[in-house]
Amino acid sequence: MEIKAIRGFNDILPDEVGKWHFVEETAREVFEGFGFSEIRIPILERTELFSRGIGEATDIVEKEMYTFTDRSGNSLTLRPEATASMARAYLEHQLYTFDPVAKLYCIGPMFRYERPQKGRYRQFYQIDVEVFGVENPMVDAEVIVMLIHFLRRVGLEKLELQINSLGCRDCRPRYREELKKFLKQKAFQLCEDCQRRLETNPLRIFDCKVETCQEAIADAPKVNDFICPECQKHFDKVREYLEAAGLAYILNPRMVRGLDYYTRTAFEVVSYQLGSQNAVTGGGRYDNLFGELGDFDSPGIGFAIGIERLVSLLPKDREFVQYPHLFIAALGVETLIEVYQIINQLHLEGIRAELDYEGKSLKSQMRRADKLKARYVLILGENELKQGKAVLRNMETKSQEEISMEGLIDILRKKLL
Ligand SMILES: [Zn+2]
Ligand SMILES: [Zn+2]
Repeated sequence: MEIKAIRGFNDILPDEVGKWHFVEETAREVFEGFGFSEIRIPILERTELFSRGIGEATDIVEKEMYTFTDRSGNSLTLRPEATASMARAYLEHQLYTFDPVAKLYCIGPMFRYERPQKGRYRQFYQIDVEVFGVENPMVDAEVIVMLIHFLRRVGLEKLELQINSLGCRDCRPRYREELKKFLKQKAFQLCEDCQRRLETNPLRIFDCKVETCQEAIADAPKVNDFICPECQKHFDKVREYLEAAGLAYILNPRMVRGLDYYTRTAFEVVSYQLGSQNAVTGGGRYDNLFGELGDFDSPGIGFAIGIERLVSLLPKDREFVQYPHLFIAALGVETLIEVYQIINQLHLEGIRAELDYEGKSLKSQMRRADKLKARYVLILGENELKQGKAVLRNMETKSQEEISMEGLIDILRKKLL
């Protein structure tokens, strides 16, 4: 019986992978330019890290985690996100003793047991960026500036930056109570999940997709009407720094994060490319996360971008596949050993060269070169070889020229690279 991949687990095939390389390489280049360093964290962690770091009363922890017991009886979970692990690593290795400010990024797969649908997978890839150890609003703006710069470098257009302030430990509870009071009057309109959320975490009702819930919450009190003077000052500064960086933004008072450790600045980027509205990424400040994980308190801010979404938004007219520079069509058994030596040298030079291993006819080799989209074909017959020359054919212009075997590698390097 043929074994297939698990539902929601996706292969990224060679003709797609060029786009992934492009996105990942651009991320590394941009982030390192902003002084960020990569951190690689395990895919498997203790379940507790996520139940404490993300929060028990969340969809992720309640129903989307891949959790199992290992042979020693430990409850382990495939990471559903990266922030908690990165914070754990910062604490575990006491990165703050070297320098309290840690600017980190991480690229890799995450796992959530969600209903698979087009563009959504159970193993999905994220680029995660976090700054630990700075409370200053300047870093909020810096992270946002870097994000927008990265998205533009990748080729995304018509981006809209939305920001909001969610308040802090001191002012958020008051908002929560007001929201609860307001929504209690509309409880009959809420779905079953939201009726429960009304008691456990009313802020999460903002994220509910059910239409009647969205209607109920439409004129709910706005979080930024409740923020304390400190939070207001922080938010004003973030706006000032964004403006100083020349970044346009709009205020979105309906942007609310359901998790308690989110504080102050929240942001989202929407792309209006291709005539439709796509949320590309979101992030924000979470000054209360570390308190959930241990005794060490530290502010944090970051964002996560789904790579699948990003790849689907890449400019359609750009070429990401790496085609062979050269196909070598060798004729006759005598030439094969020569061709083998040439191709080895070409590969050492970084020239992508292909050949026919089977000694097929010239016609069939040319067909294959065409199919592989090789830019040039080097035709080498026994006669040519004896005369010390070969024919180089440009597959695009269909023009041919005779080139000397002497210094062949040099000639090809100049022409192809
Ligand atoms: Zn506050
Ligand atoms: Zn609902």
